[in-house]
Amino acid sequence: MYESAHLISSKTTTQFDEFPMRDEVADYPSHGDLREYFTDFAKHFGLIDGFSFDTEVIDTEVINDEQSSGGWLVTTRDADGNESTHQHAGVIAANGTLSEPTIPTFAGEFGGEIMHTSAYKSARIFTDKRVLIIGAGNSGCDIAVDAVHHAKSIDMSVRRGYYFVPKYLFGKPADTLNQGKPLPPKIKQAIDTRILRQFTGDPSRFGFPSRTTRSMSRTPSSTPWCCITRGTATCRCAPMSIGSKKLASASKTAASPNTT
Ligand SMILES: Cc1cc2nc3c(=O)[nH]c(=O)nc-3n(C[C@H](O)[C@H](O)[C@H](O)COP(=O)(O)OP(=O)(O)OC[C@H]3O[C@@H](n4cnc5c(N)ncnc54)[C@H](O)[C@@H]3O)c2cc1C
Repeated sequence: MYESAHLISSKTTTQFDEFPMRDEVADYPSHGDLREYFTDFAKHFGLIDGFSFDTEVIDTEVINDEQSSGGWLVTTRDADGNESTHQHAGVIAANGTLSEPTIPTFAGEFGGEIMHTSAYKSARIFTDKRVLIIGAGNSGCDIAVDAVHHAKSIDMSVRRGYYFVPKYLFGKPADTLNQGKPLPPKIKQAIDTRILRQFTGDPSRFGFPSRTTRSMSRTPSSTPWCCITRGTATCRCAPMSIGSKKLASASKTAASPNTT
């Protein structure tokens, strides 16, 4: 996890109701806060004894033998490479859909360093480099904001327009507004679109393509624009190709209003 990572969902919408986060934790907790929270949660509910850390599940097999009580045979490998098989009544596969990085292949040759977000830790690696960030999802935007303090220049490549949601709206964490009173999707989208237009303006002024989807139909990105447009480095948005797929977008150098 990168040093600067903070949640994009605020603490009250992220925590389990029966085990709230500590009062000292900020509205948008850091990854360290979350690690502490999960550890405290596991201790509080006595879960730790049931876990085998640093252990990989390498095989699961359903037991079809009529003489046995059924269940599953689960084979694991620990950090020392020792394998063992145990019988369990059931298996829940919760291996995550995004735990394995997908690294795009590029046509032609590129002599620079290519790094997946999952390997990124600290913005110091960007010092005096020209940086291209592919994608303006939450991680891409976080890294752009980090890099702007160190890099010589930053470009972002995107294939569609994005909605950028400020972390606070009307003095409250943005995701806490209207909690518990869900609106019909179309009304919510219409209201959100208007609010975002007021708060963040039109991202196309930085070269991002116009948004073609409705707000909240895809995950929005949460980014402090003032950091992206900090005077020391300018973030530009431009199209590029990955393999045979062209990532469409406008190409325009962002104006840097020098906001800090
Ligand atoms: C930078 C960042 C910020 C985020 N911010 C937020 C946020 O603010 N709010 C929010 O709600 N979500 C956020 N998310 C998304 C959230 O982290 C994921 O949606 C969530 O972690 C998915 O949980 P999961 O249990 O499905 O998978 P994971 O958290 O990916 O857990 C899967 C686990 O399974 C393990 N595993 C995989 N294969 C095996 C195997 N064979 N044997 C044993 N173990 C295995 C993996 O090592 C991993 O530990 C963020 C994600 C990132 C990267």
